[in-house]
Amino acid sequence: MPPRPEADRIRGPRAGGVDFSAVGPVRTCIGCRSRVPASQLLRFVAVKAGDDLRLEPDPGRRLPGRGAHLHLDPACFAQAERRRAFGRALRLTGVADTGLLAEHIRAAVPRGTTDDDASELRHDPAR
Ligand SMILES: [Zn+2]
Repeated sequence: MPPRPEADRIRGPRAGGVDFSAVGPVRTCIGCRSRVPASQLLRFVAVKAGDDLRLEPDPGRRLPGRGAHLHLDPACFAQAERRRAFGRALRLTGVADTGLLAEHIRAAVPRGTTDDDASELRHDPAR
């Protein structure tokens, strides 16, 4: 193994023998709460829009500020929204507009897995 400094390698007592060090940093999806390599998640940040806050997707991981992570999956988005995980993860004091983020996730999900053409997020207990 070549010596390779990795400042943000996570080595907590809860790692439980799963070694993610080969794939980079691990982040938690705020929807389903699973810990997966950050590369599998969408990063997003809260951006001030006038008096309001807006959640902005950051696929390039370049936006400054505190970010949170979510699967590109409407189910995870819905879960996060239901338990108000956005505000908690980003330490927001008010309510943030999630429209942009919802749009991004919707656009990223491949079509054809459902015959439902309506693009509204729905509750889907079957998942
Ligand atoms: Zn998830």
